[in-house]
Amino acid sequence: RAARTPLPPDVLLELDRRHVWHPYGPMPGRQQPLVVESAAGVRLRLAAPAEGRTELIDGMSSWWSAIHGYQHPVLDEAVREQLSRMSHVMFGGLTHEPAVRLAARLVEITPEPLRHVFLADSGSVSVEVAVKMCLQYWRSLGRPGKQRLLTWRGGYHGDTWQPMSVCDPDGGMHQLWSGVLQRQVFADAPPPGFDAPADPAYAGHLRELIGRHADELAAVVVEPVVQGAGGMSFHSPEYLRVLREACDEHDVLLVFDEIATGFGRTGQLFAAGHAGVAPDVMCVGKALTGGYLTMAAALCTSRVAEGISRGEVPVLAHGPTFMGNPLAAAVACASIDLLLDQDWAQQVKRIESGLREGLAGAAGLPGVRDVRVLGAIGVLQLDHEVDMAAATRAAVRAGVWLRPFRDLVYAMPPYVTGDEDLARICAGLLGAAAAG
Ligand code: PLP
Repeated sequence: RAARTPLPPDVLLELDRRHVWHPYGPMPGRQQPLVVESAAGVRLRLAAPAEGRTELIDGMSSWWSAIHGYQHPVLDEAVREQLSRMSHVMFGGLTHEPAVRLAARLVEITPEPLRHVFLADSGSVSVEVAVKMCLQYWRSLGRPGKQRLLTWRGGYHGDTWQPMSVCDPDGGMHQLWSGVLQRQVFADAPPPGFDAPADPAYAGHLRELIGRHADELAAVVVEPVVQGAGGMSFHSPEYLRVLREACDEHDVLLVFDEIATGFGRTGQLFAAGHAGVAPDVMCVGKALTGGYLTMAAALCTSRVAEGISRGEVPVLAHGPTFMGNPLAAAVACASIDLLLDQDWAQQVKRIESGLREGLAGAAGLPGVRDVRVLGAIGVLQLDHEVDMAAATRAAVRAGVWLRPFRDLVYAMPPYVTGDEDLARICAGLLGAAAAG
């Protein structure tokens, strides 16, 4: 029965354990999640103390999304204002100002040739749509053989069907399905190091593979500059230029998945900006709405859209019920304005400096294999699989929310994180690395 009085935490947790699937979780649940009562600024307020803490600084921006923090007055107001008009209306045969304004704004701020916007309801769905655009483009052009994708090993593009096929085939949660997913072409993961000089042998490997499979490739799909959930590794932007050239040479489309990297996280508004290249299709999500509501987008060039329109089936057959949700679109517009109306690049630089300074001592610590920082992303890579429960507990003890996984302890804080809180996030990272 829905009730206004809050459930006592132990009752809530028992109901949660019995009935609620969590990401990558078993059923019934085995781990006891922390109950968040509210969130404001960069802090999560817990319903019951954990490790003596009732408030945690969010080092994760709710998985890359809450770049402005929680309960931001401008974003709250944008949702309230839109709510006073309509919360949702179907998008088939109808349109509305928030969606139109958002699409136009996205075209304005993304690389030049991207002109058309499909508003999807999650990052994974935007990747589905991006892939569908590419496959349909080649069918429409009378080249139905071009239906496979090339991607890097160690990638992550989401949990729905086609995105799973371009995730890391050698590990991770989706390996279970490797026998039934479409067989894609996998290039080696890019050599690590954002500042490392590009390796000509690796560039040659990319060119050779694209050339060899060109007749069957619809598109190359990659995360530019940062491979996120697949390993939090950074690579030289030069490889994006190599991909662009090879795709042009061999008539293959190029898709950049900027779902994690978009909206300033790496120090450029979009990570493709580090390389100065534009993809044919680009996905954005996560921070698109400042983490307020679920929305993502797949943008494409006129070449792609016009190609599809020339086909036997001249429409893109995709139309989720909640497509273009007005609340999400309104808050996305507000979040983009909020970001661009301030010196966001300076904010991200400040976070980058804070992370570099706070993590500088980690390099010599036992168990730490690598320390890397790019934009508002700080990563400690361990030389062993992290004990997730112990590492999380240590971070919570330090008053910080982190979500370590595999051999990684990392943070991507909201851009509004103050210097003192940033120092505490770094302390949390070090504590988690030592405990895990
Ligand atoms: N692509 C990348 C690069 C991601 O990091 C993620 C999510 O972590 C996704 C796609 C999937 O987005 P969503 O979780 O919104 O479906």
